[in-house]
Amino acid sequence: MPIKLLPPRLANQIAAGEVVERPASVVKELVENSLDAAATRIELDIEKGGHKRIKLRDNGIGIAKDELELALSRHATSKIATLDDLEKILSLGFRGEALASISSVSRLSLTSKPAGQEQAWQANCEGRDMAVSLQPAAHPDGTTIDVADIFYNTPARRKFLRTEKTEYQHIEDVIKRIALSRPDVAFILRHNGKVTKRFTAVGEDQLASRVGQVCGQAFLQHAIHTRCEYDSITLEAWLGDASQMRSSNDCQYSFVNGRGMRDKLILHALRQAYESVLALPEQPAFVVYLTIDPKEVDVNVHPAKHEVRFQQSRLVHDFICKAICDALSSSAGAQDAMIPE
Ligand code: ADP
Ligand code: MG
Repeated sequence: MPIKLLPPRLANQIAAGEVVERPASVVKELVENSLDAAATRIELDIEKGGHKRIKLRDNGIGIAKDELELALSRHATSKIATLDDLEKILSLGFRGEALASISSVSRLSLTSKPAGQEQAWQANCEGRDMAVSLQPAAHPDGTTIDVADIFYNTPARRKFLRTEKTEYQHIEDVIKRIALSRPDVAFILRHNGKVTKRFTAVGEDQLASRVGQVCGQAFLQHAIHTRCEYDSITLEAWLGDASQMRSSNDCQYSFVNGRGMRDKLILHALRQAYESVLALPEQPAFVVYLTIDPKEVDVNVHPAKHEVRFQQSRLVHDFICKAICDALSSSAGAQDAMIPE
């Protein structure tokens, strides 16, 4: 075959393979965009586990009419302009791939009104070349993205969708994880028209109350709370004990600079700590927040951004492990002390 440039939709569909694994990954990308747009309230309407529809509405800064088309094209981002920006990135997105990828494998409409723009506009993107059509719409300040019929045009991918229930569970997990990283933002999640989760906004200094909203009051009451600092690293954690093994070991969340991570290094440090203090082979529920100088960590490792790379990985690992060990053993000590001789 002669060498040819891929048509835009096909190129985006190939990229979508990395970003859009399932409805929950769409939800993650959309919610992160809303957070990057400074939204304080995010509402999600899910139909049939996301198979049928994922609709998000936010009250963020919106997208100007003449940028709607750009927002939907590949490698278009308002978040970085130079390699230097990439090194101190604070926004959640930066690849400029999500909307282009999602719109290439679904029926997507984007409606937005920045404060100060008189009229809201809606963009739909169609056809093989992904041409964008614009029409005026009614919408308050902020953005709505409607993603319907995910993978309708990529049957091979569609086959991999699990049941509505399973896909919905993944979506709920994504929302819980993000809600734990942003207590100052209100989240409402509906499934098939019914409200399934509602997290009211609390102050950033009231992280504990968001932990309670998301992981349950029982977890919050039993969990060991700790906060430690070393150099430019801070760790804050709520650690479940052995009494919570069965009920809440699905509530395992770790964050690096506000991003939800399933980072191997962090999980390893946690496992080591739980093993050495409580002799538990698996970790019970935990919520761990790590804050570190952005220059010390590379987030540009994985397209779905689950993993990071620490410059001083050994040091970070040992710091986490020691902080958790100390917290677990001081609380184990406190419990021993209460047992009468
Ligand atoms: P990235 O987030 O990596 O920049 P995306 O494809 O997710 O790429 O989004 C492209 C651009 O569209 C963003 O850079 C941003 O300018 C704009 N955008 C997307 N979603 C929103 C939103 N909810 N509110 C405001 N702007 C948005
Ligand atoms: Mg994005």
